[in-house]
Amino acid sequence: MSEDGYDLCVIGAGMFGSAAARHASANPRLKACVIGPREPTAEERKEREIFSSHYDEGRIVQVIEENFSISVLSKHTINRFRELEKLSGIKFYNPVGFLLAAEKGSKDAINLLQTLLSHNIAFSDLSDGDAFKKR
Ligand SMILES: Cc1cc2nc3c(=O)[nH]c(=O)nc-3n(C[C@H](O)[C@H](O)[C@H](O)COP(=O)(O)OP(=O)(O)OC[C@H]3O[C@@H](n4cnc5c(N)ncnc54)[C@H](O)[C@@H]3O)c2cc1C
Repeated sequence: MSEDGYDLCVIGAGMFGSAAARHASANPRLKACVIGPREPTAEERKEREIFSSHYDEGRIVQVIEENFSISVLSKHTINRFRELEKLSGIKFYNPVGFLLAAEKGSKDAINLLQTLLSHNIAFSDLSDGDAFKKR
């Protein structure tokens, strides 16, 4: 590594680029940087040619996925959010839960239940009586 150079330059400060740069920067022997535009201001939007896939203030993250491997990866990712909050000083994770609807007894409903049970995810079944109305 030269004195004013980098060992690794990540191009693009989006979801994957910023994560890759963060992991690289945790290695004290590696001088890493991330190169890419920040989110444009309303004014900059008119002139900007490069955009991220989506700018917003919130992202959905979930363990319930059809693909088991993605579920496992999501679970491991979510388990590290608190550590990331501590390291970054940014509070970004609010586990608010979500509402899923599926026809009772359908393949979708059974798959959903199996996923919830296999990942030990707490849930409420609102299909009986007036539980849904009460909630
Ligand atoms: C409407 C919408 C809603 C979504 N909601 C969710 C959600 O709730 N939860 C979820 O997990 N995923 C969501 N996604 C998907 C998620 O946004 C993408 O999977 C993710 O952003 C992909 O990451 P990425 O790093 O590949 O690309 P991006 O996040 O798009 O990052 C690419 C980066 O590269 C930069 N770049 C491009 N060209 C150059 C260049 N020449 N030089 C330097 N930098 C460059 C861009 O500025 C950008 O910052 C959503 C996507 C969309 C479109």
